[in-house]
Amino acid sequence: MDCVFCAIVGDRLPAHRVYEDEDFIVLLDIFPLRPAHVLIVSREHAPLLKDLSAAARDRLLLLAGRIAAALRASGYAAPGLNFVINDGPSANQHVPHLHLHLIPRRAGDLSSLLWRALTRFLPLGRKRLEQGFEQQAQRLRDALATLGDGPEHV
Ligand SMILES: [Zn+2]
Repeated sequence: MDCVFCAIVGDRLPAHRVYEDEDFIVLLDIFPLRPAHVLIVSREHAPLLKDLSAAARDRLLLLAGRIAAALRASGYAAPGLNFVINDGPSANQHVPHLHLHLIPRRAGDLSSLLWRALTRFLPLGRKRLEQGFEQQAQRLRDALATLGDGPEHV
């Protein structure tokens, strides 16, 4: 099996896709730290941010702003969110293919987030989690469609 994100980009593995364009696909993290935890994944196999083409790197933050707007508009991240790139294995990067995490946050959720960080790869509550994925992806796709294309929505 090749890189899991290359397999998703190449349609050899399923994913709950929220958005895609020529440089990136946006999907739900199947091991979420919080509900509607989203990943922006580069189409090119660039292990680290420095390996990504300059054009894609320039577009990454614009796209992140747009996805963040959808997360806020759909209510998942109305209070706030974390933008996180784990750049390298020692920085907790589990898949060596560049991805930006957008993690919705609420006041007082730190203990839940830390608990999920410790247990996210265990099968605890897996069925309930999986039942929520498609609804979350649809809410985010709807929010993106409602936002329109202009930079004023970023
Ligand atoms: Zn890859």
